[in-house]
Amino acid sequence: MSPFVCNHNGDCDEDRLCCLKTEMTLTQDDIRRIESLGYDRDEFVHRAQDGFYELRNIDGHCFFYDPSSKLCRIYEHRPEGCRYYPVVYDARADRCIVDEECPSRSTVSDDEIRRICHGVRTLIRTLVREARPVE
Ligand code: SF4
Repeated sequence: MSPFVCNHNGDCDEDRLCCLKTEMTLTQDDIRRIESLGYDRDEFVHRAQDGFYELRNIDGHCFFYDPSSKLCRIYEHRPEGCRYYPVVYDARADRCIVDEECPSRSTVSDDEIRRICHGVRTLIRTLVREARPVE
């Protein structure tokens, strides 16, 4: 479980920014866990050109984002990357950072970033290992 607590109650201005136009990558475990809820992977998985599996967007927001309630419909089962957010991996600098677009970024301490970063790095290794060329 992510220690990050959204101090906007998931409501950034009018919408939850982290769930809009998402490019959140998915591990095979994420996909299997969500499929076990009754969803078909073709509904919620998008294959990016670089071979990664990502959450699909519908009408500009994540497939699982409910615009009326502004909540995630699979919150307890959400992808691992969503649990670490707003801590993300900066590949160019090879370090974990807080997404500068997150309005709650100032609530994440350096200690939290350090603590979460091990999980983020492990996740990145898994994603790279599982990525497949798009046919
Ligand atoms: S799975 Fe849930 S938390 Fe993750 S981007 Fe989609 S709506 Fe947001």
